[in-house]
Amino acid sequence: MSATATDVLIVGGGGAGCSTALHLAKRGARCILLERGQIGGQATGVNYGGVRQQGRHPAELPLARRSRDIWARLPELIGTDCEFEVTGHLKLARNQTEEADLIAYLDVAKANGLPLIMIGGNAIHQQYPWLGPDVVAGSFAPDDGAANPRLLSPALARAARDAGADIREFKPVSKLAHDGTQFIVTSGEHEFHARYLVNTAGYWGGAVARAFGEQVPVSPLNPNLLVTEPLPYFIAPNLGVVGGDVYLRQIRRGNVIFGGGRGHSDPDVPSSRPSPEASYVVMAKALQLVPQLAGVQVIRSWTGIDGEMPDDIPVIGPSRTTPGLFHAFGFSGHGFQLGPAIGAIMSELVLDGHTDVPLEPFRIDRFAADQSFNQQGQRHDASHHA
Ligand SMILES: Cc1cc2nc3c(=O)[nH]c(=O)nc-3n(C[C@H](O)[C@H](O)[C@H](O)COP(=O)(O)OP(=O)(O)OC[C@H]3O[C@@H](n4cnc5c(N)ncnc54)[C@H](O)[C@@H]3O)c2cc1C
Repeated sequence: MSATATDVLIVGGGGAGCSTALHLAKRGARCILLERGQIGGQATGVNYGGVRQQGRHPAELPLARRSRDIWARLPELIGTDCEFEVTGHLKLARNQTEEADLIAYLDVAKANGLPLIMIGGNAIHQQYPWLGPDVVAGSFAPDDGAANPRLLSPALARAARDAGADIREFKPVSKLAHDGTQFIVTSGEHEFHARYLVNTAGYWGGAVARAFGEQVPVSPLNPNLLVTEPLPYFIAPNLGVVGGDVYLRQIRRGNVIFGGGRGHSDPDVPSSRPSPEASYVVMAKALQLVPQLAGVQVIRSWTGIDGEMPDDIPVIGPSRTTPGLFHAFGFSGHGFQLGPAIGAIMSELVLDGHTDVPLEPFRIDRFAADQSFNQQGQRHDASHHA
């Protein structure tokens, strides 16, 4: 069996892995990224495209803020903006309990420097006359927006290659080990050796962690998405609701992308398919938000596979069993926005041994003492993706 040596091996070529390769290479580290399929072929390439900070878990906001800065600098960093547009994100309340939730989040946003404006019942219908009558209030995050998910990972990978990273597609990693000095990773008939290993394998990051004796309750998350025929452009902000059961945005070409509920998947294949039942439910919810969508044709629906953690926040940080191993996976439906910062953070962990972003809440062993979570993770109703 032939072998190649490098400094850092990265498993997984989604947004997290490609941005890690980019940041490592820019700092002069030798790295090889191994991707089972095509770059961006899984969650990062098929998601809803929400670049949203509003509503994120408080622990995630420092990461989200750092990532938002990088989103703004993508053209200088990777030569394209990936169609990132600062449309603002408008989160809607459909009753007073939901309105109270929006109000409570204002303090969380303030503590993290996230601009957020509360809009009351009368003002919201004046500002957005196309909203349905069930909307009672909203909070508007002017810094948030959306981007084209198809573009991010390939653009990051291209820039990483230009900076010297070795990015390899169609290289499924089948075996992972550490011999006490270095990692030995097998793909096909080839071995790769490195002092550091970065696990950015998305949902499958759980299997990578397990290879090093770290059990993580990660389960597949399949947000159900649909897109309509193009319509005259009128919905400027990215829309969401308290509870996350429907989200909706219109792209400049006119199509309305919306989602809610869950599809199905078999991560072992891997394959995924949307759910017609969930689609009917979410169509009705989208109409409640924007009644003008009545009669519009849905032209496609789809889903993908992300890793979901029981507490809805990812695993990020060093392994607790194996020095030199760093994890970043299980983004629970939020990793598109976070991806650009993940690379910066992972490169700091590998090259500097620390990062300024607080990672304690994302420790891999945070569930170790809790026997109530099985290995596949607790399925729960939260739908905080997009
Ligand atoms: C339908 C959907 C909608 C979403 N909407 C949003 C949204 O609007 N906003 C948002 O912020 N987030 C959203 N998300 C979440 C977001 O897409 C993910 O959290 C993020 O893309 C995860 O990035 P990643 O790099 O960790 O994983 P991935 O993009 O899944 O990349 C992991 C890669 O690892 C590879 N891999 C796995 N195992 C191996 C192996 N053994 N050998 C080699 N390679 C391997 C896989 O092939 C894959 O390409 C959504 C997710 C889905 C599925």
